[in-house]
Amino acid sequence: MWTIVATWRMALEGVQEASKILAEQGDACDAVETAGKMVEDNQWYKSVGFGGLPNEEMDVELDAGFMNGNTMGVGAVAGIHDFANPISIARRLSREETNCMLAGLGAERFASHEGFERKNMLTDRAKRLYREKIQETKQTQNPYKGHDTVGIAAVDQNGKIAAGTSTSGLFLKKPGRIGDSPVVGSGFYADSETGAACATGLGEDLMKGCISYEIVRRMKDGEGVQDACDHAVSALEQKLRRSRGKAGDLSVVAIDKNGNYGAATNIDGFSFVVMKENEELKVFVTKANNGHTTYSEASEEWLAEYMSTHSALVEKK
Ligand code: ASP
Repeated sequence: MWTIVATWRMALEGVQEASKILAEQGDACDAVETAGKMVEDNQWYKSVGFGGLPNEEMDVELDAGFMNGNTMGVGAVAGIHDFANPISIARRLSREETNCMLAGLGAERFASHEGFERKNMLTDRAKRLYREKIQETKQTQNPYKGHDTVGIAAVDQNGKIAAGTSTSGLFLKKPGRIGDSPVVGSGFYADSETGAACATGLGEDLMKGCISYEIVRRMKDGEGVQDACDHAVSALEQKLRRSRGKAGDLSVVAIDKNGNYGAATNIDGFSFVVMKENEELKVFVTKANNGHTTYSEASEEWLAEYMSTHSALVEKK
């Protein structure tokens, strides 16, 4: 038995590739890293890795996290510039006893020292999106729309569970801003005795609920994976509304140790990709329904529209 689940349609090609590893009795950590790298390498997926969304100063600062659910090893990089695969650096750091979350210059020094591939991650398309967004923001006053994180969770045939994330974070974020994605328990969490979860959405709000840990904790206490996702999202959403009057976007995917998966969101249109042993690869599109998330398989039209908007330059995004 094996399963892999990941946030957003952008994970499709990566999940497909990672599934081959899992089908051939490969390792969950390799599967998660492979899927994450494929999204990072694809310049059309504009909020992760190469071609990622720039910050306020037109600088691409990337965040990534990784957790090995067998060893509980956690690694993360935050605000790293010009390395091709932040998720691989995070995975490498998850093998360290100490100094396993590195930010900025320290992360870059470590990555250089370890021989990770350097790459200019700011593309012409990202520069155009940046300029367009600056114009748009003068009218809307809302710079932060249009971000997404790839979060991947997998269980392999030996019962090993891993989770990882990668993102450029919020579009036009302040230099040095760090979201939930490299923060263990918020952006990702994995425990081979129970399951794993990953998050995407407004990092500042996801972190307030340590949402990935909360999902795994709920599973540990006996909730099924779908209930754990739904309850964690709706409890955090309600808490944020009570305390602050509003809640940002909160979306999650998770698996349990038996290869079951779940997803939950407080927005319409969150998509995720799943592949399980003996099943076809599936892309689901979700609907938030008062604390319970429903989802259906993406239609041909939806998939075609996704490709046309995501490979467009600037006019369509
Ligand atoms: N959670 C990410 C962040 O706040 C962005 C996203 O997933 O949309 O950096």
